[in-house]
Amino acid sequence: MTARAQAPREEAAASRFRGSGGVPEVPGSVVRLIERLERAGYESWTVGGAVRDALRGNAGRAGDWDLATRATPRQVRRLFRRTVPLGIEYGTVGVFGDDGVLHEVTTFRHDVATFGRRAVVAFARTLEEDLARRDFTINAMAWHPLRRELRDPHGGARDLREGVLRAVGDPRERFREDYLRILRGLRFAGAFGLRIEPRTWQGMVEAVPGIARLSRERIRDELLRVLSGPAPSRALELYERSGARAVFLPELTDGLGPAALATVDAVRGKRAEVRMAALLVLGGGVRPAPILSRLRFSRAEAGRIAAAASSGPGPDPVLLANPAARRRWMARTGRRKLRGVFRLWLAALRAGASPSSREAVLGLVAAARRDQRCGVPLSVGELAIAGRDLLALGWSPGPRIGRTLGSLLEAVWEDPALNRRSTLLHLAREGVPDPGPGPARGHRRER
Ligand code: ATP
Ligand code: MG
Repeated sequence: MTARAQAPREEAAASRFRGSGGVPEVPGSVVRLIERLERAGYESWTVGGAVRDALRGNAGRAGDWDLATRATPRQVRRLFRRTVPLGIEYGTVGVFGDDGVLHEVTTFRHDVATFGRRAVVAFARTLEEDLARRDFTINAMAWHPLRRELRDPHGGARDLREGVLRAVGDPRERFREDYLRILRGLRFAGAFGLRIEPRTWQGMVEAVPGIARLSRERIRDELLRVLSGPAPSRALELYERSGARAVFLPELTDGLGPAALATVDAVRGKRAEVRMAALLVLGGGVRPAPILSRLRFSRAEAGRIAAAASSGPGPDPVLLANPAARRRWMARTGRRKLRGVFRLWLAALRAGASPSSREAVLGLVAAARRDQRCGVPLSVGELAIAGRDLLALGWSPGPRIGRTLGSLLEAVWEDPALNRRSTLLHLAREGVPDPGPGPARGHRRER
C-alpha cells in the first residue's frame, strides 16, 4: 500500500478518537471473556497496551488484549476450562479465548512494596487502585467493551492525543520503584513519537544509574524490543541523551551518534540482530562478544551478531582488489553469516555512514553473490574432488591429503575455472605447491 493511500485512513482513525473519546474495537473472543466474568459477578475490563494502541488507531494482535478483573485467580480458574497459571503470585492467569488465543487475566492489584526491580503486590478492590500502579498515563487506561466506557483517571487519552509521555503519579518515586520503567518510557516515547513531560524526564534522568541494578535479561529484552521497531533511532537517541546507554553499554567509545542511529534505522526488514551489530560497530569499535554475553544473548544470537559485526562498517579495500583474498574472507566468515555483514554494510551506505564508496560496497556484494551463484567453493568439502579421490589414486592416508586439498582450494580461489574433477586430479598428481601452515589450512566444512 502506498503512503498516500494509507494517510487518510490514519487521519480518520485519529479524528474518530478525537471526536468521540475513542472507541476501541475489541476482538469478539475478548468481549466474550469479559461477559463471562461479569455474568459471574466480577467486574472486568480491558487494560494497558492494547487499549492505548486501539486509541492510537492501531488494532494490534488479539493476544495483546490484557484483562483486569475483580475476580481472584482461583475464581478465574474456576470459571474457565482452559487456563494457564502464568503468575499466580502476581494475580495473573492465562485464559484461552474461544479463538484459541491466550489472554492475561490479572486480578486488580496494587504494589505494597517495591525494590527497584521487583514488587510485592496485593489484590486491590478497585480498578482505580490497579490503574494507579501502572507506569505511564497512556498505559493506565481501561476500556469496558460491554458498557463502552473508558476509565482514564490519569488523563492518558489527552496525553496520547497531545503526544506526551507522562508518569502516573510522582515520577521520581515511580522510577525508583522499578528502573525498567525508564527504558519502557524511552521505548514508548521513541515508538510513538511522544514528548517526555519535563518532570517525567527529570525523574528518569535522576533514576538512570539504577538501571545497573536490573537483571541483564530484562535490559536485553527491552533493547531488542526497541531494535525490532520501525525506527529505533528515536528511542536510542533518548537512551543516549538520558545516560541510560552509558549505564548498560559503557563500552561504546563514540556513543550513539547520528551515523550509528541512521545506520540502525537503515537496516532492511527491522532485523534486530543486524541492528545490534550496527550499533556496536558504529558506536565505536568494540569487541562484541563480551558485551553480548554480559547482556545474556544466547550463544546462537551472539554468534550471528558478532559475525555481522566482524567485518566492520564497510569492506576492506584488499577484498576488492584481490578476488582470492575476497574468497578467503568469505570462507572465514561463512556463507550464511555473510548476509548479515552485507546487510550492515548496505545499511551504513544508505545512511551515509559508510567508510567505503558506493562502488566499493555494491561491487563487493555483487562479486560475492556472483561467486555464490557460480558455486565457487568456500571449503575443501565443496571442491570438485574429495580425499577419497586421492586415496583412489593410490595415496596413503595422512596429512598430505588434507594439505593438498587446502592448496587446491587456494588455487581455485585464484581461478575458479580450476574447480573441475579432471583438472584438480591433474593438479594433485602434478603436485600443487604446498602452502605449508598458511591460510589455506583449516578450511573446514561450514557448519
Ligand atoms: P507493549 O506490549 O506494546 O510493549 P504494554 O504497555 O502492553 O506495551 P506490557 O509489558 O504488555 O506493555 O504490560 C501491560 C501493561 O502492564 C502496561 O500497559 C502497563 O499498564 C503495565 N505495566 C507493565 N510493566 C510495568 C511496569 N514495569 N510498571 C508499571 N506498570 C507496568
Ligand atoms: Mg502488551
